[in-house]
Amino acid sequence: MYSNNTSSTKSTKSFGSGKKKKKQYGNKSNSFRNKSSNRPQQRGGGFKKSTLDPNLLVRKATEEVIVEYESKRTIKDLPIDINLIECLVAKGFSKPTQIQDQTLEYLLDGHDVLGIAQTGSGKTAAFLVPIIQELLQNPQKSYALVVVPTRELASQIQDEFISMSKGLNLYSECFIGGTNINTDIKKLRRSQHIIIGTPGRLLDLIGKKLIDLRKFNTLVLDEFDRMLDMGFIHDMKKIIGGMENRKHSLLFSATLDKTQQSLIDNILSDYKTVKCSNGETTCDHIDQDIIHVGGGDKFKMLCDMLYEKEEFSKVLVFEETKHKVKRLCQKLEKIDITADQIHGNKSQNARQNALNKFKKGKIQVLVATDVAARGIDVSDVTHVINYQIPLTMDSYIHRIGRTGRAGKRGKAFTFVD
Ligand code: AMP
Repeated sequence: MYSNNTSSTKSTKSFGSGKKKKKQYGNKSNSFRNKSSNRPQQRGGGFKKSTLDPNLLVRKATEEVIVEYESKRTIKDLPIDINLIECLVAKGFSKPTQIQDQTLEYLLDGHDVLGIAQTGSGKTAAFLVPIIQELLQNPQKSYALVVVPTRELASQIQDEFISMSKGLNLYSECFIGGTNINTDIKKLRRSQHIIIGTPGRLLDLIGKKLIDLRKFNTLVLDEFDRMLDMGFIHDMKKIIGGMENRKHSLLFSATLDKTQQSLIDNILSDYKTVKCSNGETTCDHIDQDIIHVGGGDKFKMLCDMLYEKEEFSKVLVFEETKHKVKRLCQKLEKIDITADQIHGNKSQNARQNALNKFKKGKIQVLVATDVAARGIDVSDVTHVINYQIPLTMDSYIHRIGRTGRAGKRGKAFTFVD
């Protein structure tokens, strides 16, 4: 744990020294436990108390989770069209991930499925593969509707669909907020097999009678828990209510909160549950620790970490408001730490550019709000840093799930007052 009693605060004057200060991020959480677990957090002018127990934010990654799930079959063994297999192999997939392995037959048999899987577990392919398979056997226009909480996640699913269906004559479109709706209207003149979108923009297009929900018989709700968190419940209900011919529903969530159960039971019928994580605890393959700020200079502490460029090479920093994200990013840039920002006030283009730079390693740091960072799929994020303790464990799990993806071990630090 970082503490202002340690050398960390003193050493912050040496910006750019590049000295290793590993000891500063030890695992000593007791002083924090004693001092500040019940301290209210100041947020956006008001006081809101985090419901998070900071004790839960300190844990070592367990070795066994690094041993990845190993499917007994390869991609080539899957009971799907050879052309689809070729697309998956071309993407570099050799074996199905756990969620893919354990849901495939249920989905091919037409069962509704509740998939509980962490971000990065391959859940996009888990639902796209059976959808593509069905479309190859029985091409139907406007077949599946995929509803997701964020624009980035929608774009990523669209990209996955394109690469998984190369040369198969299947078409998808992505409709998300923050883009020109007239472009969407033009896109809708062509027909698609699958539509991916965020609830607000989908409802706009449905309201203009440009999307007819009755044509879709398959519904995918991805990051369902997030959609509830983000207040999309009524939008989701409207969309689901309009799908009069819905026959097949797939619901994916990283966490499973018992209060969601009756809602899930209303959406899915006679469904199979596939759990790839317990959905309640934080990611076991991520080293997690807290950094005690006390009266210290939090920004300097952050810089000290970031100056260890080799180790902290791709860092996702969470701030709580758009304004704070902007300010933190500017402060980092001023001291020559390459950074960009991603939040709701940025245009979709700017968000995508920032994400691309981060993916390609052109910037060291991406500063983000919770909401904007949903669905960020960057496989080698070295660290997630919570510049503010998140309000809920759910939000914490989603944030730290951006590191330690694709079987890698991740690291997450949370600053606590
Ligand atoms: P997701 O959980 O869907 O966001 O996927 C996380 C990442 O894993 C994406 O970059 C996928 O392309 C990749 N992926 C999905 N399935 C597999 C697989 N069977 N083998 C290797 N990579 C995969």
